[in-house]
Amino acid sequence: MKDAVIIGGGLAGLSAAWRLRHWDIQVLESDHRIGGRIMSEKRGPYVLNWGGHMFAGEGSSTTALLAETGTRSIRIPGSLQGMAMNGKFITTGPVQTYPFRFPMPLSSRLSILKTGAKLGIDVLRYTRAVKSRPGETGEVRQQRIYDFENDRTFADYIGHLNEDQKSFFLPPVTRSAADPDQLSAGAGIGYFSLIWNIGQGLGRSILGGAATLTEGIAQSVRDRIDLGADVHEVVQNADHVVVRYSKDGVSHEVKARTAVLATPAPISHRLGVNLPDDLREALSKIVYGPHVAGAFLTDETGRMPYDNTYGIAVANKSFSVALNQGNIVRGREAVRQRGGSMMTFSPASLGRRLWDQDKDAIAKTYIDELDDIFPGFADIVTEARVEKFEFGSPYCFPGRRHLQPILTRPSKRVFLAGDYLGTLYTETAINSGFSAAQEALSLLSTQQQRPTT
Ligand SMILES: Cc1cc2nc3c(=O)[nH]c(=O)nc-3n(C[C@H](O)[C@H](O)[C@H](O)COP(=O)(O)OP(=O)(O)OC[C@H]3O[C@@H](n4cnc5c(N)ncnc54)[C@H](O)[C@@H]3O)c2cc1C
Repeated sequence: MKDAVIIGGGLAGLSAAWRLRHWDIQVLESDHRIGGRIMSEKRGPYVLNWGGHMFAGEGSSTTALLAETGTRSIRIPGSLQGMAMNGKFITTGPVQTYPFRFPMPLSSRLSILKTGAKLGIDVLRYTRAVKSRPGETGEVRQQRIYDFENDRTFADYIGHLNEDQKSFFLPPVTRSAADPDQLSAGAGIGYFSLIWNIGQGLGRSILGGAATLTEGIAQSVRDRIDLGADVHEVVQNADHVVVRYSKDGVSHEVKARTAVLATPAPISHRLGVNLPDDLREALSKIVYGPHVAGAFLTDETGRMPYDNTYGIAVANKSFSVALNQGNIVRGREAVRQRGGSMMTFSPASLGRRLWDQDKDAIAKTYIDELDDIFPGFADIVTEARVEKFEFGSPYCFPGRRHLQPILTRPSKRVFLAGDYLGTLYTETAINSGFSAAQEALSLLSTQQQRPTT
């Protein structure tokens, strides 16, 4: 019997595997690669990236994992406040000045300022409400984040928006993978807090690409990872767990003292066949929006308009965010090297609209649209690839707060991990992986000390 079986080799499962690496463990991953929604590949000094790429900093579980695994990260250089709208690209200066700098009628400028003022007040209210309080646990703070304005949608909160207001305010909100009528008001306000209060939240990049972390952990437990192992049932018994899976068309069963279930919530709902009913129901209620992401390698030779900018909100295109991955290299070089790397992504309804299209066709649309924003871009692309993620990101919807106490209640032998257990994506994935490993370790060490009969 194994000490622990970990189901899912994404960031959450691998974080648990890392902390459990000195025990007899097995990681079962259905895909033929490790990492889940962490997906990056190196090209010389550049990185092509399709998944999570911005990581939490000081005081986070991410920092702990990076330190323990010897993975190097840097503060993301350049502006996160680039924006392309109505034919113009702006990247410097306070965001409050943007409505005066994009071409649009005076009435639109005024309506944007009005909505901006309303959001500004509530971002302050949010920042105060979610600030860590002395002596409180991370769980208590997480519950307060879910509680904030969780009874209505962002669309209800923000009210009717004209086209310019939509172009200006919605790209940051849809990054959550939800449309405004799906996302809770509090989560929408929280997104503006994340973007406007630079420095908090997710501001670091992993050198060599995000997959450096997941592949590094995989290396350290490599003989205990089963790729292509599609788990279909996890049964929790009084003194052990049975995990059933198939690999290469053959059925397998493994028994373990504990299990970490680190798959997206709807899958965990399906696999955890005898988890408590209310827990299974809570898992079934978690919702994700899709992400379609593109990565583009370029052979640019000189200064580009997006130099010194990392994050670019984009209005009225098939993607709502462009991420200048090349800026990680720009921030560290003395002389500008040839080349660059750009990422685009289409969350929520933008992703759904592209979902059924062929990946090459989507890549072409992305390149054409990048060329609209940065004329000449199409001519410098040397490699392009699109990836689709059905479970792009879980989002906070009205009523989500009621699920949190059920999802985080102590469990017997099957411990949950995954980004859906909190609001900080990769940080939540790592933190929940650590917590699940800790719970498994407590159980394993107690059992080990018990005299055998
Ligand atoms: C385009 C994009 C951009 C993003 N940007 C950011 C960002 O900048 N910052 C940030 O913090 N987050 C970002 N995220 C989110 C971040 O990537 C995720 O929060 C995080 O990687 C989730 O990790 P996880 O382990 O919880 O889930 P996953 O990565 O989904 O891992 C779950 C694993 O379980 C496996 N699995 C599923 N079913 C089974 C089964 N039946 N049997 C065995 N294995 C199974 C899957 O194959 C997968 O490997 C982004 C995501 C995307 C898609």
